[in-house]
Amino acid sequence: STTDLQGYAPICLGLEDFYTRRLYLRIQDCFGRPISSAPDAWFDVVERYSNDNNKTLIRTTKKSRCLNLGSYNYLGFAASDEYCTPRAIETLKRFSPSTCSSRVDGGTTSLHNELEEYVARFVGKPAAVVFGMGYVTNSAILPVLIGKGGLIISDSLNHNSIVNGARGSGATIRVFQHNTPSHLDSVLREQIAEGQPRTHRPWKKIIVVIEGIYSMEGELCKLPEIVAVCKKYKAYVYLDEAHSIGAVGKTGRGVCELLGVDTADVDIMMGTFTKSFGSCGGYIAGSKELINYLKNNCPAHLYATSISPPAAQQIISSIKVILGEDGSNRGAQKLARIRENSNFFRSELQKMGFDVLGDNDSPIMPIMLYNPAKIPAFSRECLKQNVAVVTVAFPATPLLLARARICISASHTKEDLMKALEVFSEVGDLVGIKYFPAEPNKQ
Ligand code: PMP
Repeated sequence: STTDLQGYAPICLGLEDFYTRRLYLRIQDCFGRPISSAPDAWFDVVERYSNDNNKTLIRTTKKSRCLNLGSYNYLGFAASDEYCTPRAIETLKRFSPSTCSSRVDGGTTSLHNELEEYVARFVGKPAAVVFGMGYVTNSAILPVLIGKGGLIISDSLNHNSIVNGARGSGATIRVFQHNTPSHLDSVLREQIAEGQPRTHRPWKKIIVVIEGIYSMEGELCKLPEIVAVCKKYKAYVYLDEAHSIGAVGKTGRGVCELLGVDTADVDIMMGTFTKSFGSCGGYIAGSKELINYLKNNCPAHLYATSISPPAAQQIISSIKVILGEDGSNRGAQKLARIRENSNFFRSELQKMGFDVLGDNDSPIMPIMLYNPAKIPAFSRECLKQNVAVVTVAFPATPLLLARARICISASHTKEDLMKALEVFSEVGDLVGIKYFPAEPNKQ
């Protein structure tokens, strides 16, 4: 790891080409390492090494049992669950893994309708439509909502699926400074005069697109302030809750519940099932008129195979657990646990002197590495001690803002978190990423 640091100091000069071509080859083992079990609090990581000339990867079948600090399994449903798993297996036997048909042909089972009712009720909107993939939900829905003559105002750190959807729509795109309502206000002011009715302005439609929790920053969106600006200019609000639905709010209802915003003020609520619900797919929730319009016009609804039945059942079951409809209070316990775990872990990391991004209650906490040469050092040293972390680098972040992105789950125990803190403290000293003075006795 010391060699990595020394050999790649030129990166600090911003030599992006050098970085992407040379460093990436050397650190391939830090990305895409195969996992051979469910993404629970602990999982099996297949060991993989670079050979001597750092070009070819040699795969071994040796597995290490590692503490998992990288998956978005916020509530621990992506594991064997006493309520969800038997029902998913039963559904697999009854319906098979696929409907082999689109929603409008033979691909709507009773489960799909039940799922849409549960999602609408859970997120607090009159209706919902579900899709087989979260990514596609953004990239296929935005072009149906808006087109040429429309304006999308997008947060500068929005997810790639939003960026692709926005570009594919043909609408004009403006970007506002990440999570900065005052800048959103000035972008909107430039485009329209305040208070003009929707029909009296140069744009057919304006949609402001934001996320509930930003996945590379661990930061909650400033939803009340952004909603107020959108109301002032009569712009529609599109909120991607991939990382916040199920993960935050007293009853898991996401950032509206956490930040006290009425869901009626968010026109289009989007989310994915790949995080808190331990399944796959995505949803859009909104008014009955909006959902009917999408069902009649969205190619990803009309022409794509519907969400897999066992995946749909998994989502219904996990929502039932969260709502307490399984007859236990496990849902409430999971929600309390993820909040406690996240806030405990974040404050302990800060006390040790790490530079941690994000807000309280967010289960995502990026630990800043800054210099990308620290990626392999941090990742490999943690792995040596059976702690698996996700590192994020250019082009997903600016070149000199590399980070380790920690995701906390309700299924982590206090002992798991203590182990991770011990390993991070040691590796943090080794790699030199404790940028602030530690509080006494937290060295
Ligand atoms: N939106 C956001 C904000 C995301 O972070 C992601 C992926 N993590 C997606 C959409 C795409 O969701 P999925 O992985 O479920 O396809």
